[in-house]
Amino acid sequence: MIQRSTRLDAVHYELCGPIYEQAKELEREGHRITKLNIGNPAPFGFDAPEAVTRSIIDNLRHAQGYSDHKGLLSARESIRNCYAAKGIAGIHTDDISLGNGVSELILQAVQALLNEGDEVLVPSPDYPLWTAAVRFSGGKAVHYLCDEASDWNPGLNDVKSKITSRTKAMVIINPNNPTGAVYAPELLQELVELAAVHNLVVFSDEIYDKILYDEVAYRSTATFSDEVLTVTFGGLSKNYLAAGFRAGWMLVSGNKAKARSYIEGLNTMASLRVCSNVPAQFAIQAALEGDQGMQDLVLPTGRLRQQRDTCYEKLVAIPGVTCVKPKGAFYLFPKIDVKQYRITDDQAFVLDFLREQHVLLVQGSGFNWQQPDHFRIVYLPEVQELSQTMDKLALFLQNYRGT
Ligand code: PLP
Repeated sequence: MIQRSTRLDAVHYELCGPIYEQAKELEREGHRITKLNIGNPAPFGFDAPEAVTRSIIDNLRHAQGYSDHKGLLSARESIRNCYAAKGIAGIHTDDISLGNGVSELILQAVQALLNEGDEVLVPSPDYPLWTAAVRFSGGKAVHYLCDEASDWNPGLNDVKSKITSRTKAMVIINPNNPTGAVYAPELLQELVELAAVHNLVVFSDEIYDKILYDEVAYRSTATFSDEVLTVTFGGLSKNYLAAGFRAGWMLVSGNKAKARSYIEGLNTMASLRVCSNVPAQFAIQAALEGDQGMQDLVLPTGRLRQQRDTCYEKLVAIPGVTCVKPKGAFYLFPKIDVKQYRITDDQAFVLDFLREQHVLLVQGSGFNWQQPDHFRIVYLPEVQELSQTMDKLALFLQNYRGT
């Protein structure tokens, strides 16, 4: 028997887990599945800005060799300018590293920091790669609760109560996946102050920072402190609708002098994989310096905003379903009355829906949410398809009683 590493025992990524495998099986049997399990804009008819795809085509011949392990200087200059304009102090291009999507950089950043048993504060619910990366690195993910009753904002006292002498870092996902919450500047300030007091590294996942609705106030976490070591993550997958290009970056700011060893570790991690995919690195400058027309998608007449509104309204009209209206990203994280529908296992619930209506959702527990009373919807399909899909959910729930 060939056994997997025990390091993987507690590592899960349900977005492509057993239920996704079931969906593929149904597809092989000839069914058409509406896949609302992953935030991948392209299959729903979204296109990256023309200049972004063009830059890859035009530069392909110059992209045949390895780049520097941190990535092309021109891309890093562009990222530096972009974050300096947001108000992050003292950024040098050496503080920026490019990756094959943010996913790879999350793994690098966490692996470079943790020793066996070190703790990281991770939100619940979370984007599950964060919990997975901590566990894979031998660390312990300690979940702080985001409070649905307060628009999914983290409770500061809960965060405080979970800090121990082993806590090394705090993860902030803002705008948030899966809840769609966008944190008020005051809350971010308090979280950063807490990190300062306990000498924690802040990992700020800001991959959705251009997908903001209703003119909500937004600030990048690193702007709150020149002292707290903050690693900010961003990329092209969501903001620029180009998830398949695998282009992301991370930026280290704050008191870098006290983090020399960690920064060397990040450098080692980046060099171990030589460099990220070079054609996609060319797309970064084109994206950041080019036409920002995709931002119209979140305006009142914009496609994403209309899809959010339709999906939200249809959803909350279903008896026993409630939801906080998202202010960012492209997900809804509704609550379902588990007593009314006799749900004890959210995975079974999502699987039953898939089998009956051929719609793929992800159960709340896939986002490290501890109760079986939530699920996540990706609202990327066009309004008409979303609307029909929500009708299917309503129909399914009419007769559904229990797992
Ligand atoms: N962070 C968050 C919060 C995400 O939702 C995702 C993807 O869904 C990622 C990171 C990873 O993005 P990518 O690897 O495509 O850059």
